[in-house]
Amino acid sequence: MRIGVLGAGQLGRMLALAGYPLAKTFVFYDMSGSPSAGLGEVIIDREGQYQDDFLSRVDRVTYEFEHLPVDVAEKLAKEKPVHPCPRALQVCQNRELEKTLFGELGIPTPDWKIADSAESLKAAAEELGCPVVAKSNTEGYDGKGQAVLRSPDDAEQAWADIGHPRLIVEKFVDFKREVSIIAVRAEDGDLAFYPMAENSHHEGILRYSIAPAPDLQASIQDDAERYIRALLNELNYVGVLTLELFETEDGLVANEMAPRVHNSGHWTIEGAMTSQFENHIRAVSGHHLGSVEARGLSCMINIIGEHGETERILELPYAHLHLYNKGERAGRKLGHVNVLADSYEELVWRVRNCAQFLPGSPEFKSSLTPRG
Ligand code: AMP
Repeated sequence: MRIGVLGAGQLGRMLALAGYPLAKTFVFYDMSGSPSAGLGEVIIDREGQYQDDFLSRVDRVTYEFEHLPVDVAEKLAKEKPVHPCPRALQVCQNRELEKTLFGELGIPTPDWKIADSAESLKAAAEELGCPVVAKSNTEGYDGKGQAVLRSPDDAEQAWADIGHPRLIVEKFVDFKREVSIIAVRAEDGDLAFYPMAENSHHEGILRYSIAPAPDLQASIQDDAERYIRALLNELNYVGVLTLELFETEDGLVANEMAPRVHNSGHWTIEGAMTSQFENHIRAVSGHHLGSVEARGLSCMINIIGEHGETERILELPYAHLHLYNKGERAGRKLGHVNVLADSYEELVWRVRNCAQFLPGSPEFKSSLTPRG
């Protein structure tokens, strides 16, 4: 089976790496050069004129990034199965639509309002009570196009800084930690849920994911599964879906969803019986899902900006190095290391040992380590 992937970054690369053992072949469709080259044919289409050519070479279409015009996905879906469905793209490209859908499905979100001027931003901040987070309603990701307002008086400055005509304004969530759940839905509606991950960010970029999340109450995993199940079934979704959440004293609050394999699921490559990438390929190809059970305890460390001493990491018996074949640049995701262990204590020690060879890594901080 030939799988067409919209986008050709590292997620596409890892999808292909998981798909070849299942005898899939890959064609990538992108607007620029990419690190996936070498794992499949890449069609670079800056003007949008080679879509028919792409379609003629594939049996099924999926995507690895969500900032793809919905009309392109809809057009492709008229000719070939596109999984996940274009509606999933549409929802996650628009925070207002996304939060509205969450609300309809009973998924808790921060209180929110829409602002379309500096004045309405100020009014929203007053009504919600500061601090609030203002985010561009569309085209924002990884903390870009966002501002925290400590007081309604910050509204004018925040409006100017974000420079977007429509904002979503959210009550600032006082969270214990950030977590995510990754789930997969097959064509026949079968569902599987990975154990949740605890995610640590630095400068708006994911740095560490630990899975299964330490000290997670079973009821929290159950709640997350209920929320993501509601989304998967509502969207008649096929493939891997990620839901990013805040864990608070009062339970989970949803932040956003990503209709694709996700950085917080890279631990599954060695850390789960079936990786998120393989399960996505299985789902979009119409196969049965694989087991999502964890093989032990995992921590994924992102390699950001510079590669560091990768040779030293290769010497470590518990570390698995994944490189994306990308050039160094500040803030860029160049690869990741999956560290496995049998206890969280051992995991912390191993992660620290590994991170010393990655100069771009901030100090390892998680619920496993005392903060301060
Ligand atoms: P986002 O682009 O929505 O994923 O937001 C990026 C990061 O900003 C999140 O990972 C959180 O660390 C933080 N953040 C976003 N929304 C909120 C909120 N309502 N309350 C507190 N922190 C937030």
